[in-house]
Amino acid sequence: METMTAVAFLEPGRLGVVERPKPIPRAGEAVVRITTTTICGTDVHIVKGEYAVRPGLVLGHEPVGVIDALGEGVGPDYHVGQRVIVGAITPCGQCFYCLNGSHSQCGGPLGGWRFGNTIDGAWAEFLLVPDARANLAPIPDGLSDEDVLLVPDIFSTGLSGAESGGVRIGDAVVVFAQGPIGLCATAGAKLMGASLIIGVDSDPVRLAMSRRMGADVALDFTQVDVVAEVRRLTGGGADVTIEALGTQQTYESALRCLRPGGTLSSLGVYSGKLEMPYDAFAAGLGDHRIVTTLCPGGKERMRRLIATVESGRFDPLPLITHRFALDDIVEAYDLFSNRRDGVLKVAIRP
Ligand SMILES: [Zn+2]
Ligand SMILES: [Zn+2]
Repeated sequence: METMTAVAFLEPGRLGVVERPKPIPRAGEAVVRITTTTICGTDVHIVKGEYAVRPGLVLGHEPVGVIDALGEGVGPDYHVGQRVIVGAITPCGQCFYCLNGSHSQCGGPLGGWRFGNTIDGAWAEFLLVPDARANLAPIPDGLSDEDVLLVPDIFSTGLSGAESGGVRIGDAVVVFAQGPIGLCATAGAKLMGASLIIGVDSDPVRLAMSRRMGADVALDFTQVDVVAEVRRLTGGGADVTIEALGTQQTYESALRCLRPGGTLSSLGVYSGKLEMPYDAFAAGLGDHRIVTTLCPGGKERMRRLIATVESGRFDPLPLITHRFALDDIVEAYDLFSNRRDGVLKVAIRP
């Protein structure tokens, strides 16, 4: 039996490099040899034990690689040796949720998120891809691995914050938290035609990157009253606010910054209790919309986002700040989870 190197969640606080059998694809599946992957904030929640997964599970849900083997029925659109990405979310395309347009909730709540959640993920030499025909997205020749590294999750999620918020040409948009996802939400607001984009964070590196990704104004919440400043800059409130962190403070500020009729688009993962003070949303009568989104996946979503990178409409490379070998992932994780050295995203190569 062939084996491969992978990185697994062992117990809260502990990752380990492990040997695993190399996967063999069954009908409808594919095996991708991973050439580049990365670490997500969600992986940090998992390693800390804040989001429970099975001990021994291989983590990672951001795969870039080359098709190594195809199961029965996956061809002829794909071939061994083809460069592909796979979304963090791998919908089946056939269940109740998929056929009702909620692909990310495939099979039930959060069910479309399989890699590094319910099945082995991309922190490995090889990845088994379920429902391969719905999920393998070819990489055009002109693009490098790093050009498409953020597409499976971070770019798809961040952009969806602006899309779900229904950003229109000329809108004023506020994005709370300028980590990798918030920065992609900022870029998304710009792509969708917002005329005023306000990025909020406290980290000077992230505030500078916010401007680079399209923010007109970058606010440091430790220095200014963000709600008052947004009201002043927008003349009464933003059309769309995007929450990209998952805390009571950012959620509540996102609500308080909205104009009547505005939309709060929530991307953050919350834990514990989330409160909605009545005065922050006009006692519930302010015609506000609150929408939530889990990263959209599937090959057509991936194709659109790859096209956005290929056309030069979005340049992800400034967000990839560090590079590591898979064997050094514990070191990479330490850097990423402690946000040292201006880190945004790390490229990991098996
Ligand atoms: Zn992620
Ligand atoms: Zn489905």
